[in-house]
Amino acid sequence: MNHLLQNIIIDGPDDTYLRANIEIKEGYIAKIETSKIDIGEVDRSSFYVTCGFVNSHLHPNQLLDRRKLDQLQIVELLSTMHTKQKKTDKERYHQAMLVLIDALKSGATSMYAIASNPIPVIQAFRDLGLTGAITCVFNDVWEGEGNAPTQADIEDLETTFSKLYDHNTNDVKIHIGTASILTASNDLLVRFNNIAQQYNTRVNLHISEGKESVETCIKTRGMSPVRLLSKLGVLNEKWNLIHTTTVDNEEVKIIANFWCIDYPLSR
Ligand SMILES: [Zn+2]
Repeated sequence: MNHLLQNIIIDGPDDTYLRANIEIKEGYIAKIETSKIDIGEVDRSSFYVTCGFVNSHLHPNQLLDRRKLDQLQIVELLSTMHTKQKKTDKERYHQAMLVLIDALKSGATSMYAIASNPIPVIQAFRDLGLTGAITCVFNDVWEGEGNAPTQADIEDLETTFSKLYDHNTNDVKIHIGTASILTASNDLLVRFNNIAQQYNTRVNLHISEGKESVETCIKTRGMSPVRLLSKLGVLNEKWNLIHTTTVDNEEVKIIANFWCIDYPLSR
C-alpha cells in the first residue's frame, strides 16, 4: 500500500525546521522531499492536536547494549549480552532513563517495557512521571543457542512477584512474563496464567519470532508455540504475544479468539 504524508514539520540541522513530504511504498519510506521553513511563519490553523502515542515494546536495560553490539548476529548478540554486559542497578536506572527519554522525544506518551531487573526501570518510570506498564521477566529454562539469559529461582515466584506488584499503580502497571517460550517451562507458563488471574494483570512474552524459534519449540515441546499455549489452556485475554510473525492459518484463528498481538514485526 502506498501513502503520501504531506506537510510534516520536522527538525532540521542547526536549529532549523523543515517541511517534509514523505512517500511510503509497500511499508518502506521511498522518498523524502524537504524544504526549509521559518517556524514563526507557519500557519498553525492547519495543525492537529493528536492523542498520545503508545510505544508498545521497549527493552530499557538492553537498548544501549544492543547498539554497542550492533555488528553481531542475533544469537551472538543475545549470548554476549547475557554474560558480558553485566550492570549494576544504578547503571540499569541510568540506561532506562536515557532510553525512556529517547522514547518521550519520539512522541510516545505511554510506554510498555520489559525487564529482568524491573526495580530500576520502575524507578525511572516514576521519576519521569510516565504512564505505561513494565513486565517483570522470569526465565526457568534455556532451549536456545548460546549463553542462557538470567535464570530465576521460581520456587518463590508468587512471593517475588507479589513484592514487585506492590509497585503497581494506575499510571504504572506491573505485568509478569518471560523472554520467550525458549526460556519458560510449561509449568512456568501455567503459573504465569494463575498469577495473571489472581492479580488481574497480564502475561507478556516474545513468541513465534522467526522460523528458528518455532522449529525449536516443535523439537523440544512437540508443537508450535501458539498451539502449546492453547494446549496448556492459558490463551486468554490476559496474554500479550509479542511479535508472532511466524504463524500458520490455524494459529491465526486460535489467536483471533482472544487478544491482540504486540509489535507484529521481528527485530
Ligand atoms: Zn523484545
